[in-house]
Parts: sequence; structure tokens; C-alpha cells
Amino acid sequence: MFVYVINQHGYPLMPCSPRKARLLLKSEKAMVVQRTPFTIRLRYGSSGYKQVVSLGVDAGTKHIGVSAATAKRVLYEAEVLLRTDIQDLLATRREFRRARRNRKTRYRKARFLNRRRKERWLAPSIQNKVDTHLKVIGQVAKLLPITSITVEVAQFDTQLLKNPNISGAEYQEGEQLGFWNVREYVLYRDHHTCQWCHGKSGDKILNVHHRESRKTGGDSPNNLVTLCETCHHKIHQEGLEDQVKRKTASLRDATQMTILRWFVYHGIKAEYPDAKLTYGYITKNTRIQSGLEKSHTVDARCISGHPLARPSETTYLIKQVRGQNRQLHKAKILKGGIRKKNKAPRYLFGYQLFDKVRYENQECFIFGRRSSGSFDLRILNGTKVTAGISHKKLMLIERASTMLIQIQKPS
Ligand SMILES: [Zn+2]
Repeated sequence: MFVYVINQHGYPLMPCSPRKARLLLKSEKAMVVQRTPFTIRLRYGSSGYKQVVSLGVDAGTKHIGVSAATAKRVLYEAEVLLRTDIQDLLATRREFRRARRNRKTRYRKARFLNRRRKERWLAPSIQNKVDTHLKVIGQVAKLLPITSITVEVAQFDTQLLKNPNISGAEYQEGEQLGFWNVREYVLYRDHHTCQWCHGKSGDKILNVHHRESRKTGGDSPNNLVTLCETCHHKIHQEGLEDQVKRKTASLRDATQMTILRWFVYHGIKAEYPDAKLTYGYITKNTRIQSGLEKSHTVDARCISGHPLARPSETTYLIKQVRGQNRQLHKAKILKGGIRKKNKAPRYLFGYQLFDKVRYENQECFIFGRRSSGSFDLRILNGTKVTAGISHKKLMLIERASTMLIQIQKPS
């Protein structure tokens, strides 16, 4: 467990131990800035002693993994759960608006087809994801003196597929790594399904089969086919090699697939020009070589370039939530001409939606409030703590924000 330290001017220093932090706080040389992750601010000037801290970002549509590590130790690791409700909410809004247009109401000027999209327009659901990636990185950069950032931009490198003889630092990690790249592409092209039984065997282990031996056919994508392990064995045992059909697919949708991650990368690049990129096949290779289990934070650690850094005892789980429930999205809107709020007031018995509270020695969040004073408590992975508990039994710890955060002990 680390306590994050920022200097008098708000710039991050290397984190310290809780013991050191206690001493600093007791002697009034520091003050508490935030509770989770626990951060203190020095009251005296210190340029600090800094080390190389690299940040790895495992970008995604539902999760983000971030890991900041020195060569020896992991300093900060978090998994972020992104919002997945935006598309649905906008569809609801659109439906309500359409219904309203058909109702007999006062005349309103037509408001469709009179907008122009900005040049770099992204669908709101995607824009939100890109923004959140940047926000999360910004939060880490406020806690730790980050010296380099690496982002995984895609599962495999299309440039390398088109031109296997490409040279560069990342490309000189051995022939085997080149095969890993093609392998990821072949799995993607074949939709991660066995091309023999199309999933009927129920075997989840996938192999990439060489139609002609590696020696004669090589490692090019059109010599490779995805097979489940069951079928792969069967084909080799029964000598059915020549019946496996060749597959071809264009590389165009391959770049489409990872559009979000590329946007994230360019967004990061604009703010941190030294940011580097990496590919999923390299991450996967690093993870397997280092003997690590797959998880979003472990992948981020591999991306950071310090897979063998000693993991921290605590990681953070962050969940992004809506700031407001809009009455516009309610299934039943109250009648009566003037818009009524149709939702609980901002503060109910002093509590807001998503406030962090302590209940029976457990930290949890308010996920639902009733005007009777009975609240619904949950933790961030969705587990219900209690469906109805009196507000009198709760103690407020932290106020709500759109990025809820809790400490996670490794299981
Ligand atoms: Zn199969």
C-alpha cells in the first residue's frame, strides 16, 4: 500500500509508505488531499527524488486497465468500468422526441436535419469512452511522476502483416513474435471460431493450423486457419489436411475494429507527445513469457514494460456513472403541463446518489434512495450489500462523483 505525495506546488513526487505519511501528517509537514487513493500534500518545498515510472494503458470499450510501475514495483494499478448506457439513453430520448412530434402540441419549428456535425465528430458513446481514457490517465499523472506512457492500439499490427520485412526497434524481437502477430490476425479474421466444426465441438481452446507445413507454406495468413484443438487433432490423425479450405479477408475492417483505441492513442499523443504504442500480440507474448494470469491490470502492467514489477497489495476499481438521472429518460413522465422533477431531490436525509458510506464496517455506495429513508447499498462490481437500510445506520465517507472509486484486495 502506498500513500501518494504531491509537493507544495501540486506536482507529484514518488509515493511513500503509510508510516512515513503518518509521521509527516502528525508533525504537520503535510496535509490530506484526498481519501481514495490516499494522497497527501507537503507543506514544505521538495523537488523530490524521481525514478522512471512508466504507465501502461490497456484501452477498451468496457474496461480500461492502467498500471504505473518502476522496474521493481507496481505503484498504482486500477481497473475502470466504463459507461455502457449512453447509446440506450440516446435511443430513448430520440423515441420520446419522435412521439412528441406526432402529438397535438403547440407549433415548434422543425429541428431535424438542420445541424452540421463537427469535423472530428464521434458518436457520443465513443466520445465518452475516449474522454474517459484521457481523464483516467490525467488522474494517474496527478498522483505519480509519470515519465513514459504506452498504449495498446490494436490486437495486431496491420503494417507488419502487409510488409513482414519492416524494420524498427519493436520489430526486432525475434521471428516467433512475428508469428504471434499473424496468429492474432488469423484468429480475428476467423471470428475466433473453429473453421472446421464452427464451434459444434464445444472445445474452447483454439489453435492456428498450418495448411501446408511451416517449412513449405510459411507463416503467411492464407496458409493459416483457426481450428479448435479437438478438430486440429482429428485432422492430423485422419490425414484430412488437404480438405481445410484457404481463407482470405481484407485488412480494411481490421483497422476499423480498433478505431476506439486509435482515437485514444491520438488523444493521448496530443497531450503527452512522447506516448508510445504497442500491440496486443506483444502484450500477450510478454504476459505468457512472464507467467502471469490475464486481467486488465496485468495486461496494463505488461504494456507498461515492467511485467515483473512486484504487484501492489491493493488495486483500485473505478466505476464511471451518470451525474444526473434525467426525467426525460423516465418511462412515465408525470402529467400536468409544467415539467415536474419526477425524481428524488439532490439530497435526501443529507445523502446524494452514489455517496460513499460506511455500513457495518464496510465501505459501499448508495445506489438507490427512497423518500422513506431506506437506501440501497452496493459495491462497485454490482454486488448488493443491502436492498433496504435506514439512512440512520450509515456514515458518510466521500461525496459522490462521476468516477466512483474503491480499494480492491486481490482475490
Ligand atoms: Zn472444431
